[in-house]
Amino acid sequence: MTTFDSDFTMTIGGKAVAGAASFPVLNPATEQAFAQAPDCSPEQLDQAVAAARAAFPAWAVTPYADRQKLVASIAGVLAANLDGLHRLLTREQGKTHVNAQGDVMGGAHWCQQAATLELPVTVVEDTPERYGETRHVPIGVVGAIAPWNFPVILAFFKVAPALLAGNTVVLKPSPFTPLTTLKIGEILRGVLPDGVLNVVTGGDMLGPWMTSHPGIDKISFTGSTQTGRKVMASAAASLKRVTLELGGNDAAIVLPDVDVADVAEKLFWAAFGNTGQICIATKRMYVHKDIYEPLKAALVDYAKTVKIGDGAEQGTQLGPIQNRPQYERVLDLIADAKAKGYDFILGGDVADAPGYFVPISIIDNPPEGSRIVQEEQFGPVLPLLKFDNIEDAISRANASEYGLGASVWSADTAKALEIGSRLQTGTVWINETQHLSPLAAFGGHKQSGLGSEGALEGLLEYTNAQTTFVKRG
Ligand code: NAD
Repeated sequence: MTTFDSDFTMTIGGKAVAGAASFPVLNPATEQAFAQAPDCSPEQLDQAVAAARAAFPAWAVTPYADRQKLVASIAGVLAANLDGLHRLLTREQGKTHVNAQGDVMGGAHWCQQAATLELPVTVVEDTPERYGETRHVPIGVVGAIAPWNFPVILAFFKVAPALLAGNTVVLKPSPFTPLTTLKIGEILRGVLPDGVLNVVTGGDMLGPWMTSHPGIDKISFTGSTQTGRKVMASAAASLKRVTLELGGNDAAIVLPDVDVADVAEKLFWAAFGNTGQICIATKRMYVHKDIYEPLKAALVDYAKTVKIGDGAEQGTQLGPIQNRPQYERVLDLIADAKAKGYDFILGGDVADAPGYFVPISIIDNPPEGSRIVQEEQFGPVLPLLKFDNIEDAISRANASEYGLGASVWSADTAKALEIGSRLQTGTVWINETQHLSPLAAFGGHKQSGLGSEGALEGLLEYTNAQTTFVKRG
């Protein structure tokens, strides 16, 4: 019987491994440490990589259909342990129970659906002289590095396709949210062959050790653009393959024909869900001048009904910021906006009390060049921006180094689609945001990433193409 509030161990070669040292894990709602996580040493990372390498040959030749069954079976294991996992996730991450359940079950759904994908074999030549086909073979050991905002689903975005394709994995969660991932490693011991999925946790050096490790063949990374650049530079030394899912500064463009009362609540959650800590949160909202004032009023009215608090408390709809560095980044953006004299229609005053709580904050039409518009805030502070002419809105939406997602809101779907087709982002939503599917490619354009997750595109990221020619006659 797994306990979910203590005994946190790494999983290496299918066995529990205590850390060489340990580090505290804080509840962001209280700033109190409530558990210790193992701090992986370089030697223990070597052991995890060695275990993954040892497991690779047998896993790589395990029939694809068997790997599909095993990956799909992870869903049932997550569901069976949902109660313990989601409560632990709320404690370490700060998110509400509902949101934590969504993260765990989102991971389950990802495994189940990804396991329906097939790896194609393409006949490239079939002549009297020669037969040729291209198939997709596993790469080897994948180092999977996850962030703290959705620790479970974002880990399975990587683990599910990596395992399906026949790779073995060393998974590292963020040091701010290590515990749920450690427990997932524990409950999967015995479900997957030993060494196929290893879970390690540690401090700030563990990521760089992984990206420079000679025994790791590919890095799949989700995190900030700034760290993504370091990952790519480090991986370049040994030409490791990389998939990078990075930051975003998603624009929503709201046309004047929307039903303001209907869209206000949806737009609120687009921006403030998970306390704004979503890579594909709406981080800039461009609203046509004809509906700017009524939409602003409706957003503020709705925001006032939303309860912020400890995610473990009944009725909480938004939790705290997850960790102190991120809290300080958001506070710095608020301080900058105040110093420049921008008008906060709501929020902006952070209480001096325990917990990384930031109130829902909306800034009234700050300049386009302001930091709150240009930078990724990753917190509950939204710049509401006015536009008159759609060409201007499109060019402002596109004037960003980021290109993760964007949304267009209109009663006229054809018009919204035409506008959407001109946005430079990996995903475009019309009249919604943040819908992702294991069967759809998801990734960033520009500096929001490299490569894709989800769908066949995402699965192929964990393979090398191999072409075989057979001479006839
Ligand atoms: P982060 O870049 O600080 O950390 C991400 C992970 O990388 C953590 O596990 C961290 O320990 C590790 N890491 C840190 N430095 C490293 C290094 N030099 N080498 C290797 N690994 C290193 O990001 P975060 O603060 O955890 O997450 C928030 C960011 O992630 C935001 O920018 C957000 O937009 C982005 N994000 C992107 C997606 C996406 O799919 N595109 C999804 C979620 C979050």
